[in-house]
Amino acid sequence: MLRMIVNLLFLILMLVPCAIKGAEELKIGGIFYQDDDDLKVVFTLSAKLYNFTPTIRELSQRGETIEVSKHVCSLAEEGVIGILDGVGFQASEIIQALCDMMELPHVFIRHDIIDTKNWSVLNLYPAPSVYNLMLEELILHKEWKNFTLIYLKGHSLLRLSSLLMIGNDTDKYAVSVRELEGTDYRNVLVNAKENGYTNFVVDCPSKHLERLLRHAQQVGLMADEHSYIILSPDLFTLDMERYRYGGVNMTGFRLMNLTSNYRLWNFTNLFNLETGKNMQPEDLKTIAVLIHDAMLVFSAALAKLTNTQPQELYCENYDTWMYGSSLLNFMKTNKVDGLTRALVFDGLGQRSDVMFDVLELTSSGNQTVGYWKSDRLIIERPFVPDAEIIEETVLRNKTLKVLIATTPPYAYIKESEVQLQGNDRYEGFTVDLIEKLSDILGFGYEFEIENDYGKIIDRESGKWGGMVAKLMEERADLALCDFTITADRQSAIDFSIPFMTLGIAILYKEPSKQPPEMFSFMAVFSKEVWYYMVLIQLGLGMIMIFVGRISHKEWQNIVPCIEQPEELSNQFSFANSVWLIIGSVMQQGSEIAPIALAPRMITSIWWFFTMVMVASYVGILVAFLTVEKNVLPFNTPEELYEHKSISYGAKTEGSTIGFFKGSRNEIYKKMYQKMISRGWTVADNEIGVAIAENTTYAYFMESTSIQYYRERHCDLLQVGGLLDQKSYGIGMKKNSPYKIYIDDALLKLKESGEIQKLKTIWWQERRGGGKCGEKREVEQKQLGMKNMLGAFVVLGVGCLFGLLISTLDMLWGVFKRSVKYNTSFKYELVEELKFVIKFSGEVKPVKRPPKTDDGSAEALAEAEGKDEIKSLRSHYSIKSTSTQRTHHSHSSRHSSNGLNSLSIAFAKRREYT
Ligand code: GLU
Repeated sequence: MLRMIVNLLFLILMLVPCAIKGAEELKIGGIFYQDDDDLKVVFTLSAKLYNFTPTIRELSQRGETIEVSKHVCSLAEEGVIGILDGVGFQASEIIQALCDMMELPHVFIRHDIIDTKNWSVLNLYPAPSVYNLMLEELILHKEWKNFTLIYLKGHSLLRLSSLLMIGNDTDKYAVSVRELEGTDYRNVLVNAKENGYTNFVVDCPSKHLERLLRHAQQVGLMADEHSYIILSPDLFTLDMERYRYGGVNMTGFRLMNLTSNYRLWNFTNLFNLETGKNMQPEDLKTIAVLIHDAMLVFSAALAKLTNTQPQELYCENYDTWMYGSSLLNFMKTNKVDGLTRALVFDGLGQRSDVMFDVLELTSSGNQTVGYWKSDRLIIERPFVPDAEIIEETVLRNKTLKVLIATTPPYAYIKESEVQLQGNDRYEGFTVDLIEKLSDILGFGYEFEIENDYGKIIDRESGKWGGMVAKLMEERADLALCDFTITADRQSAIDFSIPFMTLGIAILYKEPSKQPPEMFSFMAVFSKEVWYYMVLIQLGLGMIMIFVGRISHKEWQNIVPCIEQPEELSNQFSFANSVWLIIGSVMQQGSEIAPIALAPRMITSIWWFFTMVMVASYVGILVAFLTVEKNVLPFNTPEELYEHKSISYGAKTEGSTIGFFKGSRNEIYKKMYQKMISRGWTVADNEIGVAIAENTTYAYFMESTSIQYYRERHCDLLQVGGLLDQKSYGIGMKKNSPYKIYIDDALLKLKESGEIQKLKTIWWQERRGGGKCGEKREVEQKQLGMKNMLGAFVVLGVGCLFGLLISTLDMLWGVFKRSVKYNTSFKYELVEELKFVIKFSGEVKPVKRPPKTDDGSAEALAEAEGKDEIKSLRSHYSIKSTSTQRTHHSHSSRHSSNGLNSLSIAFAKRREYT
């Protein structure tokens, strides 16, 4: 209630000056997308705050450019003194061109870069050069030697340009680049993970940032070994709660000044009143704050310019505003203090002197760790209040009781011939870790073994057992083992920041190898490659017939002893074409030999294609026929549940079984009931692993432990991915005074890579580690379309060339015939095409009489009768006894008909009808 009254008072206070000054208000134009409601509200509020009349124009959809010029011109006609551009991209270029022409200030608030050489532009968003300098410094500070730049497709890389060059100039840095596309970024991120990338610089607009972080978490890129620098100044306006405990190191920037900024507070109140939202100043998006600052820049410049008069400007008259250039000069040179600190611009209207807060995400929330100012990066760790320093001295003198569990590799009982005493009796990852912590913080410690991590014994009284109970009752100070941070435990005790991240997975015995399947030779190519091969053979058959028919040289005299044959024959029937094609695929050849250039060209390209395909097929076939594969009986917990003959379990008193117990997933619940009722759970991981190795038993275990056992038991596998994501932390009593120091020291160990080093030692080197080495399955990589596409493209291009050449050949033949017989080119072409497209008849008459007036077959016969009869007569006299025409159509036509009817038949055929 009180808050509402305060808010209302503010609103009244803000609006009173507006009402008084109403008469002399100047108009400011704003162009926004229709659905950017918050930006429109902010623009209206900010304009009114500085006594301007806001005039808004809306673009109906993103990427719209046609409406833009109409809007700019209509705003100019209303006499606005400047235009605030809330749209960006190509639309901005149009706004800028028109503003430039009319000498109207064009104020820009986005990072999309437009041509800054234009006079009229003033960009409140920090210039790319600032980011370049700042990122270089930050990377030096973080001592990154390799990193990956992630950016969104279609967005400018100007802010990352110097980092892109770092990799080129010197081989001290390994820089890789990944582009995000569409709405699913997981593929790109998985690829980055598979390549082992851990450091990322992300340039992604705040609108898409949330999705990117979510997807990064889903693919497991938010663990303690991962570090991010996020360029968007809106990173910490997002809800970062879900990433806080995973151990990820995330650095971001904030542009607005949160400290001592009462105007920001007023502004947020106004915004909340107007929209009914309940935002905190730190939740405001940078772009909204920049709109406010833009109005401030206008207002401050106008205060210096006396007698500024608005003017109605008409685009079609190329009007210019006489006060425009003075106003813009004042806006560029006037130093004002905005919500984003000093608003200083260079001659090009760019904001190159900017101050940013540098923030880091920690398990206790966001912390400002330094700032960027006057081209310098200053990093300061959070300030520790005096009162707590006294506590640190107390810790320094203390001997802490530390609970450990003899769970490999976290702690082992040392094997020694002499009897060991005290802490010397133990070794392992947690033993080394506590030693490192004590080196930093100066405390002493003594170990106590406790293998029960703790679970609720009585929910009603809140009674716990194991380590949790001992910490609660102050019987111990710290608990250090593979102690999973769970919500239940966190309600009873405190945990440090996580020192390791993991998830539940399935451990299973490597199944025996299966011989290849009967038709495994087919699996060399993917199905689609086979389909395309068959289709291409049929298609190419048709192409060969067509090309053969239109290629002049393919029409051959099949009776060489006739010098002047009446008919020519073509070898490219469907059967012959397909035979030629199949013959080359099978590497056997055929007797069909193309003669003309085009069919030869297509045939050669086909031979090349088949050579590539056959070589690829043969090269890979052996692997498919010989390699025996592990065929897993299940790949997911769901499939495991369906598999009635395989039993499964988890550690009896651990967070893994707790995961199944508390799961909302029906199958997991049923699995839990089955594990309990059948007694499939085991007392500790060692037993679970032994059963999994020797019987048909799948053991649910934390991925870190799976990694450990797989280094030593080479016949064990991790099946499938992680079922959840969680972390280990150091347990201590609620509100422990040591927490802040332990957290700080752990953070230092993580940052310096010490924890990772310890992990390598205890997982891969000591106590039998590294026995199994890298297990590499012989890869049987099927060849898919993406592998073979090149060969298909070459074939396609070759065929197109062949078709082109044969078409030219045909046109040349047609042209020659039209000259020879004095007919029109078009007539000859139509006749030729009619014949070709018929796709039947492999014979073609040689001579063609000139076309007669009526063009009928009889008339043609009349005209050419003599010629035909003469030639047939000579032909019969030579051939009738000695030569048998092999071509059946030809021979049948020449059997016993009278010469007259023959000449009619020829003429008819020549009409190709
Ligand atoms: N880390 C687990 C815990 O803290 C024990 C191991 C397991 O449940 O798989 O309870």
